[in-house]
Amino acid sequence: MKRLVLAAVFTIILSGAVYASDTADAKPVNISFAQLLAQVKGELPRPPDTGEPLSVAAAEDLKKDSRYWVTIQAGDKYVRTALLEAGLDIAEIGDKSVSGFITAADLDKLPENGFTVQSRQTIYEYAKKHLKDFPAADARYHNYQETIEVLQGLAAANPELASLFSIGRTTEGREIWCLRLNSTQKGPAPGSKPGALYMGTHHAREHLSNEVALLYAVWLLEHKNDPEIRKYLDTLDIYIIPMVNPDGAEYDIRTGKYRWHRKNMRPNPDKSIGVDLNRNYDFLWCTQGASHSPGSETYCGPSAFSEPEPQAIKAFVPARPNLKVAMSYHSYSSLILYPWAGKDAEVDNARDRGVFTAMGAAMGKLTGYRPQRASDLYVATGETGDWLYSNYGIFGFTTELEGRSFYPGADIIDRAVAGNIKAALYMLSVADDPYKVLR
Ligand SMILES: [Zn+2]
Repeated sequence: MKRLVLAAVFTIILSGAVYASDTADAKPVNISFAQLLAQVKGELPRPPDTGEPLSVAAAEDLKKDSRYWVTIQAGDKYVRTALLEAGLDIAEIGDKSVSGFITAADLDKLPENGFTVQSRQTIYEYAKKHLKDFPAADARYHNYQETIEVLQGLAAANPELASLFSIGRTTEGREIWCLRLNSTQKGPAPGSKPGALYMGTHHAREHLSNEVALLYAVWLLEHKNDPEIRKYLDTLDIYIIPMVNPDGAEYDIRTGKYRWHRKNMRPNPDKSIGVDLNRNYDFLWCTQGASHSPGSETYCGPSAFSEPEPQAIKAFVPARPNLKVAMSYHSYSSLILYPWAGKDAEVDNARDRGVFTAMGAAMGKLTGYRPQRASDLYVATGETGDWLYSNYGIFGFTTELEGRSFYPGADIIDRAVAGNIKAALYMLSVADDPYKVLR
C-alpha cells in the first residue's frame, strides 16, 4: 500500500534494499527486519489531517456499496452458525449478539427467518464512524507488488537457504508466491525433511495477515546464524505463502481507500463478486456455516475447490507429504483455532486432539490469544485447517490476529508480528514430531 512512496523510501532508508523484479541486472542486498519493521515507521509521508473522516471520492464509492454493518441477537454457536448460512460475515462476537457485514438482500430476509436485528447502518455510515486510517496512512503495509519485491529480495540475498516459486495463478492471473526456506532443497521440488506451512491473506481485507507471514520470513533469514534458527533451516522444510488471495487484497485498496472486501474476484453469474476462499475447501463443503448465495459474504462457491486459489493449495499440499504443521493467518479476534471448524465435535483421535490442544495452548501463551476449537465459536465448513488435517494429518491451525477492526492501522504491526513470530517458531520447534508435545 505504500507503493507511491516505496521507491523514495527504500532509496533513502534501505539504500536499494529491494531486488527489482523486472530488471535482470538488479542488485540484491540484505533486507533488514529492523528496518522493515521499525525504521520505516514515521518516515513515510502521511496524508494531511483535514479532520474529514472520509474523502468525497471514498464516500461516493461506499455509497454505492449495498452492504450493511449489523448487530444481531445471537446467544450461542448454533445461532451464529445459522447466521453465517444466512450470509452474515461474523466479525465480532459478544455474549448475546454478533456484528458483521451483510448484503442488503440477505439482511432483508433475516426477520422472516427468525433473527432479531438490533442495529444496522450502511457501510457508508459505518465507514464514516470507523475508518480513520486510509491506505495512504497505512503505508507500512505491503501491497502485492511490494510483497513480491520483498520475497524476491530475500531469495536473491540468501540463495543458500531461500527459493521463490509460484504455486499457481489466481482468478485474475496473478501468481501466488511461495518462499521456501531449506538449506539443501530448493524450488518446487518435493522435500524430504519435516515441513511447515504458513499462509496469509485468504481473506482480502485482512492485510495484517500478509504482514505477519512476510515479516516472519524476513526475521527468519535475518536470524539465520542464530543456533536455534540455523537448526530449523538445516533440518526442516519451511514454506511461506503470504498472499493466497492477492486479487482480493489489491481490489480492497485499488482506489486508494478500503472497501472491506473479503472474497476473491470471481465474477458470479448474478454479477456479484467473489467466493469466500475459507469456505471453498473440500471438507463437508457448504453444509454448515456458509452460504450458497453468490452475493453473500460467506459464499462457498459453486463447488468445492471451484476457485483457483484453493486449487493451488490443493495441488501444493499433497505433493509435499512431508508437511506436518500449518498455520493460516486471518484477522481479527485474537484467537488460535484448531479443528474441527466444520463440525460441532472434537477431533476423534485422542492423541491428535492432545497435540492440537497442547500446541494451541502454547501458541496462545506466546501470542496472548485465546486457544480454542474453532467450532466452539460457530460451525464453518470448507475451511483450510479441517481440510489439511482430515486429508493429510497435518496439524493445521488458524490464527485470528489481534486488532479491533480489519484496518487496525500501522501501529499494530510491530506487536502482532513479534508475538506471532514466537508462536511460529514454536511451531517449527515441534514440526519434526508434533507428538512430542504429549511427552
Ligand atoms: Zn479471515
